[in-house]
Amino acid sequence: MNEYDKLYIDGEWVTPLAGEPFEVVNPATEDLCARISLGSAEDVGCAVRAARRAFPIFSTSSKAFRIALLERIVKAIASRTPELAAAVTQELGTPVNAMIHIDGAIATFKQAIKTLSEYEFESRVDGNIVRREPIGVCGLITAWNWPVQLLCTKLSAALAAGCTVVAKPSEFTSITAIKLTEALHAAGIPRGVFNLVLGDGATVGSAITKHPDIELVSFTGSTKAGILVAQAAAPTVKRVCQELGGKSANIVLRDADLREAMRWNVARGFANSGQSCHAPSRILVHEAQLGEALRHIRAAVAEVRVGDPLDPATTMGPLVNRAQFDRVSAYIERGLSEGARLVCGGLGRPEGLRRGYFIKPTVFADVQPHMIIAQEEIFGPVLSVMTYETEEEAVSIANATPYGLGGFVFTRDREKGLSIGRQIRAGRVFLNGSPSNMAAPMGGYKQSGNGREMGVFGLEEYLEVKAMIGFDDAA
Ligand code: NAD
Repeated sequence: MNEYDKLYIDGEWVTPLAGEPFEVVNPATEDLCARISLGSAEDVGCAVRAARRAFPIFSTSSKAFRIALLERIVKAIASRTPELAAAVTQELGTPVNAMIHIDGAIATFKQAIKTLSEYEFESRVDGNIVRREPIGVCGLITAWNWPVQLLCTKLSAALAAGCTVVAKPSEFTSITAIKLTEALHAAGIPRGVFNLVLGDGATVGSAITKHPDIELVSFTGSTKAGILVAQAAAPTVKRVCQELGGKSANIVLRDADLREAMRWNVARGFANSGQSCHAPSRILVHEAQLGEALRHIRAAVAEVRVGDPLDPATTMGPLVNRAQFDRVSAYIERGLSEGARLVCGGLGRPEGLRRGYFIKPTVFADVQPHMIIAQEEIFGPVLSVMTYETEEEAVSIANATPYGLGGFVFTRDREKGLSIGRQIRAGRVFLNGSPSNMAAPMGGYKQSGNGREMGVFGLEEYLEVKAMIGFDDAA
């Protein structure tokens, strides 16, 4: 069994000043697979001091310097792809064939290089100079479900902006973060520019959030924790960028390729075992097409292979931990007790699996908009099929949750798709299952958050705006 007893502060691996041991459990086997030392508020203090010392030089470094650093990081991550992927499989249970976690992380740095190369940090407004300057030391707090990509999305933008960082990944995916940090170190990231403090939310997360010398916290996680972060950050008036939960709807119009829409929804909905913030967890089909839609859904679900993530034939692994298994099981029970109709899946592990936090790919029909399973984020492989009579009703159901992260439309009529897309109150809307695009902003409406990541919008989260009045010769 591996032991990881160090944090990364000021360019070195150091023993935590105080903290707790944490046991990493492999979710596919429920076996203990590693011991980690978590940090404390004192360790956050050391990391912030290191990041502050590094800030004056890094924040004034040239674009070319930072682009070269980002390019070295791309190479360092790419050369460690097998190791990083193995860590994700071990901690999260992702099937070995799912390299998407590492490819996605590399893509964030490539996008940051492109954005930074094209970005002008100074502009003119009515004869005034407007400068965008790095905001300062940034606290990056991330969830476990895309452990490499979530951290890299934030980090690539923060580095491109010229900020220094104290990162706290989820305690459930600490090994992945350690492997990523090894890549950053090998890439020659300057001392103090990136610091890793492993820990839980209540101790390390909270210390980062409250710290007076951190100017920005970028948080990805649940809406519940995001609210606590914003409250704790308020007394120091730091910028808080929240990337929170979702309950995204897929509106399938009558003219859509129904088979394709259902196959896509099942694949996307069960990707990462449904532990995906943008999961299309509510499928809205026209009431006249329900029977046909369910036939396509059953056929697609029959192809999902749940099991050992180390088996290349597996397409869906376990949930991340016991708490998540219990939570998702409770939602399935709730769906049954609320009167939703079970189309496939249900309570208990899939046949043949006696250990591990495996859940059957589950689909409910006859789900009503007011039901808990239609309102709350389940964050597991559970989809709800709902029907609509008119397109207006479909839009109204799609918008009737506290969340507003993603939205999906399937139709052969692009104009109609555009019109429906414009009416969806969400930060990202996709037509006919289009893939994600890292240049496009990502973030939430309503209780899905207030931040924007990726591309220019993501870079600008890490920049302050300064007006310089009377300095422009040409004015
Ligand atoms: P979580 O809120 O439990 O934890 C997220 C992170 O916050 C972890 O690092 C955790 O240790 C830390 N944390 C928890 N409480 C804290 C506190 N009081 N102060 C500071 N830090 C604290 O979420 P999770 O279970 O790790 O992740 C699942 C959630 O993340 C889902 O709701 C999902 O939708 C969301 N998510 C959102 C996006 C997005 O881009 N909007 C992306 C991925 C995941």
